[in-house]
Amino acid sequence: MLRMMSRGIQMKIIEAYNIHKQFQKLEVLKGVSLTVEQGEVVAIIGPSGSGKSTFLRCLNHLETIDRGTIKIAGETMVAAERDGDVGYVSEAAIRRICGKMGMVFQQFNLFPHLTVLENLIEAPLLVQQARREVIIPEAELLLRKVGLVEKRDNYPSRLSGGQKQRVAIARALAMKPEIMLFDEPTSALDPELTGEVLKAMRQLAEEHMTMLVVTHEMGFAREVANRVIFMDNGEIVEEGVPEKIFTAPSHPRTQAFLERML
Ligand code: ADP
Ligand code: MG
Repeated sequence: MLRMMSRGIQMKIIEAYNIHKQFQKLEVLKGVSLTVEQGEVVAIIGPSGSGKSTFLRCLNHLETIDRGTIKIAGETMVAAERDGDVGYVSEAAIRRICGKMGMVFQQFNLFPHLTVLENLIEAPLLVQQARREVIIPEAELLLRKVGLVEKRDNYPSRLSGGQKQRVAIARALAMKPEIMLFDEPTSALDPELTGEVLKAMRQLAEEHMTMLVVTHEMGFAREVANRVIFMDNGEIVEEGVPEKIFTAPSHPRTQAFLERML
């Protein structure tokens, strides 16, 4: 919290209002609203199947929404029908706004046929038309940051899960995002490898990156997040500062979930 207050005036960087999403008959998001301030670290916790991944994917336009509004850095990205804020947003604008967000998935999703360095520079070269002589030193700097510069010429198959995930983080950062979305970044890792990934994420938080992190790592949520959101059954049931959520959750569903987790 101190970290946020010391930064002065806040800006809403993510605004999601009344997001509804259905897969066939299944209502997965039932009117989710969430606002995130620039530089804030927000952890989303909740049982499997509660809609956490779908919500992140909607924010990043990997899923369309049925109803609701999403604004990124004040710009409307999606305004689905039947809400007040309807408006046409061009594909080009959506792509540009999505470019402000980097995403890290549970399953790394590295390009297997590219080396570590090539994984980092691929999108900047193609999407941002960055120049190789500019982007390569930047990519090396990012690899140094996540402690993997010596692996730059290796293929992903030669890396451990923790190393792959650190490359995935560096690759997302190579696009210079303003927001990082993480979907259970350590859930596919052996327990002894989670620490190195959480450390890279903690470092990013210290640099005031805006982060939205779906996680089962309660220790990380407690220590690094400014705010914790508890989702269950397609809804935000409760939210608050970690201290409150972890020591005195007010909703019985949050209490029951945490009792199972801790
Ligand atoms: P969480 O990330 O909290 O575990 P998800 O957002 O992945 O939850 O899933 C919420 C619900 O939506 C689950 O019941 C899941 O099976 C369903 N679901 C997710 N994606 C799809 C899809 N593409 N098609 C159909 N059902 C889906
Ligand atoms: Mg999920």
